[in-house]
Amino acid sequence: MPEAKETVLEIDLGALAHNYRYLRSKIDSDVKFLSVVKAHAYGSDSVVIAKKLEELGTDYLAVAYVEEGIRLRENGITKPILVLHPQFTHFESIIEHCLEPNLYSEKILREFISTAERLKQKNYPVHIKLNTGLNRLGFDQPEIPLVADLITNTSTLKVASIFSHLAASEDWKERDFTVGQIDLFRKMSWQLVEKLGYEPLLHICNTSGLINYPKAAFSMVRSGIGLYGYGNDKNVDSELRPIGTLKTIISQIRKLDKGATVGYNRAFKVEKPSRIATLPVGHADGINRIYGKQKAGVMVHGKFAPIVGNVCMDIIMIDVTGIDCEEGDEVIIFGGPQHPVKFAEAGGTISYELITGIQRRVTRKIIPEGSEK
Ligand SMILES: *Cc1c(COP(=O)(O)O)cnc(C)c1O
Repeated sequence: MPEAKETVLEIDLGALAHNYRYLRSKIDSDVKFLSVVKAHAYGSDSVVIAKKLEELGTDYLAVAYVEEGIRLRENGITKPILVLHPQFTHFESIIEHCLEPNLYSEKILREFISTAERLKQKNYPVHIKLNTGLNRLGFDQPEIPLVADLITNTSTLKVASIFSHLAASEDWKERDFTVGQIDLFRKMSWQLVEKLGYEPLLHICNTSGLINYPKAAFSMVRSGIGLYGYGNDKNVDSELRPIGTLKTIISQIRKLDKGATVGYNRAFKVEKPSRIATLPVGHADGINRIYGKQKAGVMVHGKFAPIVGNVCMDIIMIDVTGIDCEEGDEVIIFGGPQHPVKFAEAGGTISYELITGIQRRVTRKIIPEGSEK
């Protein structure tokens, strides 16, 4: 009987290793691999995951915000860390913690140069983001001469990489647009390289990019979702292993007759004699209200049990009529017998939002590589 302590997110490092090796096998061995560990490593545990990825041989790590990078440094992570979305108010602590900023706008570039000059830096590694059509962060093509001037007029910075981000790498209907982004990136990055006089790393592919456009790997790829076991595509999903399994236990089971109602706002009406089980997990744990009212369900001893009524803050109710189970039994919300993508889709969302949304009060339980579950 596997132990379950209320609600637990199991994190399988063997699955992470499998995914890393799979993704690596898709690109040439001289292409560098950047592992994205932002948002608690997509809702898991950024320190544990970053350590494992260092062991597996990742060349680079990336986080979104400065605080996330500091946390990794304070826990002994030594690989270079790209901060994808820094603000200038944090530039001193970026330098203090040897983090490498993405410089994405004129204001941010000027501010970083002035901080680096004040702190007497030489050749501090930075990353220049180019906008090739996502229209989120980055320099547009007409700004390249200015970027080059600002950088070549100071000795404080060294461009470690030039990069861009694809808007629809998972979507074959957008293939022409994606190829256009890749071509524009090639042109823009070469304009900048020529002016700099040296060639930094170049990268544009995220997980779906490296799978669907491996020839556009340039000198590095950036992968997040793939490492965690999702390929944005059924065929790729079948090659990867989700690292997270969300488990809980049955707190109470109640028999109800036709006409009874369950939960807040009496949102579920019992139509026939039923068994309703209560689970210690709710919208404050990341199982949003969208999953209630029988939109999604969970697995009890390999059988599907729909979530009935409204999702509460700390509780959901499931219909276990006809399922042989008792109070204290294990329930799998997603992972294992229920693919997380199926659960996410039942709630009208995607893997990224489901897994990053699991709140910190849910215990993370790390399963080392090579240990039997
Ligand atoms: C989050 C992020 C990634 C990772 O994308 P996946 O689809 O998870 O592989 C890569 N690059 C940038 C700029 C990002 O923000």
